[in-house]
Amino acid sequence: MKTYDFLILGAGIFGVTTALELKQRGYSVGLLNPDHIPHPLAASTDISKVVRMEYGTDMEYMEMLEPCLEKWRAWNDLLGETLYHETGFILATTHDLEEDVDSFEGASYRNLLKKGYQPQRFDAKELAKRFPAFETGYYTDGFYHALGGFAESGRVVHALANYAQQLGVELYLGQTAEKLIQQKGRVVAVETREGNTFSAGHVVVCTGNFTPYLLPELKPYMRVTGHPVFHIKPNRPELFTSPNLAVFTADISKTGWYGFPLHPKEKVVKVALHSEGLELDPAIDERVVSVEEHGRLQAFLNQSLPALANDPVVFTRRCCYTDTLDGHFWIDRHPEIEGLSIGSGGSGHGLKMGPILGELIADAAEGKNHKWGARHRWRHLSKDTPQVEEARHKST
Ligand SMILES: Cc1cc2nc3c(=O)[nH]c(=O)nc-3n(C[C@H](O)[C@H](O)[C@H](O)COP(=O)(O)OP(=O)(O)OC[C@H]3O[C@@H](n4cnc5c(N)ncnc54)[C@H](O)[C@@H]3O)c2cc1C
Repeated sequence: MKTYDFLILGAGIFGVTTALELKQRGYSVGLLNPDHIPHPLAASTDISKVVRMEYGTDMEYMEMLEPCLEKWRAWNDLLGETLYHETGFILATTHDLEEDVDSFEGASYRNLLKKGYQPQRFDAKELAKRFPAFETGYYTDGFYHALGGFAESGRVVHALANYAQQLGVELYLGQTAEKLIQQKGRVVAVETREGNTFSAGHVVVCTGNFTPYLLPELKPYMRVTGHPVFHIKPNRPELFTSPNLAVFTADISKTGWYGFPLHPKEKVVKVALHSEGLELDPAIDERVVSVEEHGRLQAFLNQSLPALANDPVVFTRRCCYTDTLDGHFWIDRHPEIEGLSIGSGGSGHGLKMGPILGELIADAAEGKNHKWGARHRWRHLSKDTPQVEEARHKST
């Protein structure tokens, strides 16, 4: 039986970028994933995910996006397809950026200026003139930042997996890791539900929502939450086509609402909620969007994007975050078991970090300190630990 230097469990954005990075560092790498890539239930599987620099007062996440943006653009060339669309980003709000300085929008605006970027502030009139879908005048302040946009996340993961295979990563589809085999306190192999055993010098668990189930010692620090996503078929697609619209947030830290311009391939407008979500068991619970959530969408559209309010919702999905209790990722070696590392805990904001996740996780697995690694390390969190990702709407 072949023994890999590294065996990666899970081929979402955390796993695929880790496999790629470790392969590029010269290791032999195996990668396991159930079914196919992108997996239909994976968080990374979607038509679009937001890529934004704006993180409120949090300068570290903003700085992490600087190399990410460069690499998203480079991946378009590398992968031979435009999968990252730099439409820019609209942060619309009903409160004054200068009065509410610590709001997600106010602090993001200030940090962008501090870093020398040029966000373009707008009032209700300028917003409606430039982005006519926002015609109601409800949002009275905010800004547009030309950097950022969205990534076709499912297609990105698929293309990166192909690229990783070209570089020599050995991919095993239809394999579900079920048991970590240990010898003298060290993981030496993985048994799959399908009855196969894979041997490795080091195993990296990147199984998204299933991470706290494969490693129950993480259950006190992580939970799985489901969030509604809506795809709407616009009657007036030109109104929602970039540059008439960009990726947007609408008082997101107070409402949770955000959305995308017309998708270039799917021809729909995606609108979703970045909020607390519904806690669920990813293996058994239903992932459906409730009537109540449809009602909230309708109220939001009536108020904010009336031109979309009577258009059909053609697809919905409840997609699941792997939430750490504080909202930072979980990237570290296991504190007690040798030969085992974790790359997970995307907490609803991990995809945009794809271009640097591989190096963060590879460094942790090699026992190196990454300049942005500290707050994603193994830590003890309690149920009173506050969720710190500032765009996220928290009802309490
Ligand atoms: C509704 C929603 C909207 C989001 N929007 C954004 C956004 O706009 N911007 C952003 O940056 N982030 C966003 N995120 C977060 C982002 O999608 C995640 O942080 C990221 O995709 C997580 O990637 P992952 O690789 O950890 O998990 P996944 O993508 O879920 O991949 C895990 C993989 O592991 C596999 N797996 C599971 N169990 C096993 C096993 N036992 N053995 C082997 N393989 C296994 C799965 O099949 C899957 O392929 C959003 C997430 C959701 C749910």
